[in-house]
Amino acid sequence: AGPRHRRRIVKLEESVVNKIAAGEVVQRPFNALKELLENSIDAGSTKVSVTVRDGGNTMIRVQDDGCGIHEGDLPLLCERHATSKLETFEDLRTVQTLGFRGEALCSVSYVAHLTVTTMREGDAHATRTVFRDSKIEDGPKPCAGLVGTTVTVEDLFYNMPIRRKALRSPSEELAKVIEVVGRYAVYHDGVGVSLKRHGNARPDVSTSASDTKQQKIRMVFGSQVGSNLLEFKASAVPDECDGEGMSFQAKGYASSANYNSGKRTVLVLFINGRLVECSPLKRCLETVYASVLAKGSRPFFYVELTIPHEQVDVNVHPTKKEVNFLHQDDLIERLREAVENAVFTSNDHRTYYKQT
Ligand code: ADP
Ligand code: MG
Repeated sequence: AGPRHRRRIVKLEESVVNKIAAGEVVQRPFNALKELLENSIDAGSTKVSVTVRDGGNTMIRVQDDGCGIHEGDLPLLCERHATSKLETFEDLRTVQTLGFRGEALCSVSYVAHLTVTTMREGDAHATRTVFRDSKIEDGPKPCAGLVGTTVTVEDLFYNMPIRRKALRSPSEELAKVIEVVGRYAVYHDGVGVSLKRHGNARPDVSTSASDTKQQKIRMVFGSQVGSNLLEFKASAVPDECDGEGMSFQAKGYASSANYNSGKRTVLVLFINGRLVECSPLKRCLETVYASVLAKGSRPFFYVELTIPHEQVDVNVHPTKKEVNFLHQDDLIERLREAVENAVFTSNDHRTYYKQT
């Protein structure tokens, strides 16, 4: 073998950097779909309709009724680090939108065929633009449309054969897609979300903007879960003297002792609007049920947690799902108490006694 370092250092071309980054942001259809959903929600949509073909492997389409995109912004739409949501690093502390990195559409444009149709209030017509490798390939061309944006992602990894081979079967990808869409559908109040398989009349997920949280949980997680839910709340305000103490607001639903069809524990957790995972919280909430559930059945939890931005690191990589936040142990304990209270004081379960 020749010398490993015989070449001089060069700076990678931007397109090479972008292509490498794209493969990190988008690994499977549901990653791309999550980004598109977040964009639709950031755009103030009240209705988001998702269509997938082959579990998203060959097509993902997200249609929304949000604010649309200014025609003059289209050339920048898929440029890396181009965003309408952030200007300074300080803005990160107060950012209310789900996106802010300006990386998602760029990444998608490097790994799939991307078409964007959009129209704003007051525009004479919609426009259709095809993107490739962060640049406009075709358009914008005038077309018929409604106010809002439709993003179509086709042939994921058409240009990366190894990645394409690594995609799972359509049914496996679809399961993950349904999971992600369902969870966002439950979380976002005032937004109706639907998911259809291309060619199917019946949707796999369908919520309307006026549904209550319980109705949406029932729709997405089934009537067994939906009929056995206990609501709980917990919160803490920081010490007045230093303002450094634990501060959070949480509300959620936990399954009651009557729920006995869970085969594994489900924790659906949103922190500041982001779907995340927190294994310590899941394990801790599970312990509440040790004495009340039949052997082999597992509880269900849906938790919405709001934590001051300075106490949780939102600047994590898009695909990083486990989160860390300040006062984690105390906060988890407070949530456990709240769930315990709900489970042991609810009327239908007064026959159960807490064993300590
Ligand atoms: P980010 O969401 O981090 O800003 P994206 O690459 O996801 O980055 O999107 C880039 C920009 O494109 C957004 O900042 C937004 O201005 C615009 N955009 C993307 N999707 C939509 C949409 N569905 N409706 C309106 N604007 C959108
Ligand atoms: Mg985004």
